[in-house]
Amino acid sequence: MTTLYLHHLAALNHLAEPGHPERADRIRVIERVLEQERFTALAREQAPLAPVEPILRAHDARYVESVFDDLGRGGPLRADVDTPVSIGTHEAVLRSIGAVLQAVDEVMTGRVRNAFSAMRPPGHHAERARATGFCFFNTVAVAARHARAGHGADRVAILDWDAHHGNGTQDIFWDDPSVLYCSTHEMPLYPGTGAAGEQGEYGTVVNVPLAAGDDGAVFREALERIVLPRIAAFRPDLLLVSAGFDAHWRDPLANLNLTERDFAWATQRLVEVAARVSGGRIVSVLEGGYDLIGLSQSVSAHVAALMEA
Ligand SMILES: [Zn+2]
Repeated sequence: MTTLYLHHLAALNHLAEPGHPERADRIRVIERVLEQERFTALAREQAPLAPVEPILRAHDARYVESVFDDLGRGGPLRADVDTPVSIGTHEAVLRSIGAVLQAVDEVMTGRVRNAFSAMRPPGHHAERARATGFCFFNTVAVAARHARAGHGADRVAILDWDAHHGNGTQDIFWDDPSVLYCSTHEMPLYPGTGAAGEQGEYGTVVNVPLAAGDDGAVFREALERIVLPRIAAFRPDLLLVSAGFDAHWRDPLANLNLTERDFAWATQRLVEVAARVSGGRIVSVLEGGYDLIGLSQSVSAHVAALMEA
């Protein structure tokens, strides 16, 4: 079956000051690599604009209103200094959320096997009522709640292998036993959360901190021994991936030593687990990844493995 690829030029119009690592070139290199012949079979769709209602399932209403006020004015954002706002940010944010809603709709109704959304800004640092770390709204959190409310999913699992801990996703699902949140990340590192002892109100938060310098062997062991068994035992109806690629050895914002082969392997293992427990349903969402070569090679490996599902 098909892999869906969601994208939109609006992702290029969310501008940061020169030198900011979360930049439009990230999307340009992904677009370029996915134009290769091996990706011809991807179903390509333009990311639609999201309505506000699904965002309110994951975020505080007053917070959502204040973000839209700031975005409507073209910035600056009142809440956070490293999360820039430009004239194009409003549309980029709405299409970034719209992409994942569309992906969930098509995967949950069986139109496609799985999906990858390459939009920005990213989402996993956005908390219920706080923008931080380049993120405004929590994309995977909105996706998980949409699968539950819009498609009757009983349980959703999220795997977050971005090098940074997804403090926002953990915050939103801390006391929600219908969503399993699993994260591998470097520690200590921004944002500072994600210790193994942080397990959520119902034990549905699974944090596996890695140390600076850890390589693919350590990452694979963490997935094989802790994360994948937890996901399989949870029996989710949908598997979401917070697919950040800043654990790649080339990345300037983190100090892990993964290669694109590790992301291919992790995706293949996830595909196997999903085939057993979630009818193969996977929706993957771009988070971080700031070295353009490491990012494009990792996305290529990840999407190729999704297509083999
Ligand atoms: Zn990151």
